[in-house]
Amino acid sequence: MALRKQKLKTGDCPYCTGKGYFQLLLGGSETCDNCHGTGQKNSVAK
Ligand SMILES: [Zn+2]
Repeated sequence: MALRKQKLKTGDCPYCTGKGYFQLLLGGSETCDNCHGTGQKNSVAK
């Protein structure tokens, strides 16, 4: 698993940098609430 660079691509969620989740310091991961795990900016229309 390669680390992504900080630079965002167009359409990537700015909160999770396009990964779709946050890496927790205590271990594990949490689904990004902004993109709902898709990693895409504004991909989910409510
Ligand atoms: Zn996100």
